Amino acid sequence: MSQNTGSGIGPAWDNRWMPARPGDPCPGFTAEAGRCWRMVYSKQLQATHCAGVPTWTGRWFSPRGDRWFRVWSCPDHLEGLTGLREFGRRR
Ligand SMILES: [Zn+2]
Repeated sequence: MSQNTGSGIGPAWDNRWMPARPGDPCPGFTAEAGRCWRMVYSKQLQATHCAGVPTWTGRWFSPRGDRWFRVWSCPDHLEGLTGLREFGRRR
């Protein structure tokens, strides 16, 4: 049983008035349990962890395909992953 605290955290950014695109994926990733693997741009356009709540695990292959990492992903960042498995689904 996994316990989630908090309730429905949405994106913290609001890019209506930003010329750049906070929330865009940026190079890099993280393979940290319980954190979305994707690095995104913050409001200050600095690389930061995606604020999404991971509900999937999958494998991220290095560009050369010779290594892979187990990563956690929020529903928005499943692209590029293989072997996806959803976990802790709540209705
Ligand atoms: Zn994410």
